[in-house]
Amino acid sequence: MKAPDRYLMCPPEFYQVDYVINPWMEGNVDRASATLAAEQWRGLHEILAGEATVELITPRPGLPDMVFTANSGLVLGQDVILGRFLHRERRDEEPHFRNWFQQHGFRVHELPKDLPFEGAGDALFDPVRRLLWAGYGFRTELDAHTTLATLLGIEVVSLRLIDKRFYHLDTCFCPLERGYVLYYPPAFDSRSNNQIERRVPANRRVILEEADAIHFAANGVNIGDAVVLHRAGEALKLRLAAAGFRVFESSLTEFIKAGGAAKCLTLRLSEQRTTGAQARTDIVSRVLNLEGHLLDSGILDRALELTVQGGGSFQILNFQLGKQRQSISRAEIRVSAPDTEVLENVLGQLIELGASTGAPQQIGDARLESVIINGVAPEDFYVTTIYPTEVRIGGLWVRATGQRMDGCIVVDFQQSVHPVARIRLLRDLRIGEQVVVGVEGIQTLRKSESRDDRGVGGAPAAEFAFMGAGVSSERKIELVVNQIAWELERIRERRGKVVVVAGPVVVHTGAGEHLAALIRAGYVQVVLAGNGVAVHDIEQSLLGTSLGVDMSRGSPVQGGHRHHLRAINTIRRCGSIAAAVQQGALKGGIFYECVRAGVPFALAASIRDDGPLPDTLTDMIEAQRTYARLLEGAEMILMLSSMLHSIGVGNMTPAGVKLVCVDINPAVVTKLADRGSIESVGIVTDVGLFLSLLVRQIHAQSASNVA
Ligand code: NAD
Repeated sequence: MKAPDRYLMCPPEFYQVDYVINPWMEGNVDRASATLAAEQWRGLHEILAGEATVELITPRPGLPDMVFTANSGLVLGQDVILGRFLHRERRDEEPHFRNWFQQHGFRVHELPKDLPFEGAGDALFDPVRRLLWAGYGFRTELDAHTTLATLLGIEVVSLRLIDKRFYHLDTCFCPLERGYVLYYPPAFDSRSNNQIERRVPANRRVILEEADAIHFAANGVNIGDAVVLHRAGEALKLRLAAAGFRVFESSLTEFIKAGGAAKCLTLRLSEQRTTGAQARTDIVSRVLNLEGHLLDSGILDRALELTVQGGGSFQILNFQLGKQRQSISRAEIRVSAPDTEVLENVLGQLIELGASTGAPQQIGDARLESVIINGVAPEDFYVTTIYPTEVRIGGLWVRATGQRMDGCIVVDFQQSVHPVARIRLLRDLRIGEQVVVGVEGIQTLRKSESRDDRGVGGAPAAEFAFMGAGVSSERKIELVVNQIAWELERIRERRGKVVVVAGPVVVHTGAGEHLAALIRAGYVQVVLAGNGVAVHDIEQSLLGTSLGVDMSRGSPVQGGHRHHLRAINTIRRCGSIAAAVQQGALKGGIFYECVRAGVPFALAASIRDDGPLPDTLTDMIEAQRTYARLLEGAEMILMLSSMLHSIGVGNMTPAGVKLVCVDINPAVVTKLADRGSIESVGIVTDVGLFLSLLVRQIHAQSASNVA
């Protein structure tokens, strides 16, 4: 006896791969065999007709993908939500399917214009759990899920697709009878995998290997205990048989060339409403405002990219383009996310870009929660960035002081008439303090630079743009060095502050003398480093070697491997580096010049330190505080080949301070220079070469000044 199920199919009379709208179609245009496709389609039709009633829609010329009826809509009872295709190539299918549904007694519902929804390809009923699994990420918009929940009166669980080969939910996920789910986990983000695991017990999850997934094993049609699919490996067949399913394989190679198989070629018409289902979804959305040189600076692009990467989706509600080069653009964007956690994450990143939540008159105060354990913030605390931040308290925007990354904002109502906001590290929080939580009432003040602003020191923007982008090319290093030399001169003239962060490589490359020269000439106001650079600088100065290598000849010296320990011992005997200089034991080098010029330095300890030198701060918290204090008021920081200390300094430094990061490893440069601000400059080169070029350029500058 036939089951009462009904399916809609479309004969492949006009089927062919005519265009490319998914990765499967690439290289397959015009490559599907019409004869074989017709044969394969008949094979599938025959199997399905043995299990259910199959109805047909008349195919139309010029609409090759009409065969994939799954995308035409989603049927529940007598209601159908018509598919709205993302790609122009498939949009002309819509009226034909609309007519067919209307002529066959269905109530047709349509989604708002510009809201893509690709029917049962991205929406799969789970009768046991009384819910609709809905996919988004490639074709269907997340906001369509909310409409599905309301129109169908059902809970919708949103799953984000992240592998473009599995661009529709039904290519990698297949709910089966009795609560089983056949799926391919790598096609989903981790939140979606958690959603599946929370709702489907382990013994009901049939997990596909990649080999089965790429043969569209999840694109199966399940009628009763029959599962009809293109191909399944032996292990999968056994697993399905053990779960009580009969597997029918039906070769569909010609349709896979267009990215579809058994399920895509069918639309279930007999989905029945289950009692007790209720409209529900965790989807949340917020309206954000962005203002500035949005196109020019790439901020809008970045905001939309961050939203999608973070698992959300967006709709631009309003966009006013500033027409002149210097005029400001404004965008109003609705950001949606599958749940509050994802939304807050995305909003946090957009706030960092300078977005504000809602129209100015609608923005509420920042939410505050009390600290209940010393050194521990409330769960949902707002994590600060390098950008100047304001929090809204009692209807007023209050600027937080002590801007740095990875802190939290404490609001103090007692210290003065107006509330005060300060950025504090977790470890400094005290019971009773009020900490900003969530993302409400917080804004970061980003300098949204126009095309013209993206130069340095009057240099044409094009020349400097590559520095803004993070990493420089060999060819341009000299140009960059000239610009830095020019900036250093200006800072020195106005008695500004330049901080150098240096690693031992500065000495190993023989560039210690150049750094010493810069200090001696007044271009450096603070040196931050570790034990290593000081040890090697002092070894070089006392014994002429760096890690036992004779710096003048470049060859190892007999017994030289102990030289650095002898250097440490000498300083320990003197009591400190400064004492060694005063006692005449240390007569040259980077730290000698610091002592002579009164340039403060801080040496922070690490696990690999020898000695350490008496000056090295072995209490990490004290070292961090000293670094932070010495960094106050810095205008430029030269980070020279020390990943450890440079990253530490980067985290403490607010936006607006110019960072120049020099390292031989592009990954380190990118990490340090990619702060999303124009002030960061990354230079991939040998630090020795950089310092020698810098000193040479400074000399050339002073010579031309004198001339
Ligand atoms: P690090 O790994 O943090 O940084 C070294 C950086 O130098 C790397 O990013 C690397 O890519 C880069 N680099 C290597 N060769 C380069 C070149 N020719 N030009 C430009 N960049 C180059 O290591 P670190 O800062 O050297 O040391 C980490 C910690 O270990 C520090 O605290 C340091 O003081 C300590 N240390 C102690 C001793 C000692 O006490 N004897 C010796 C060495 C390091």
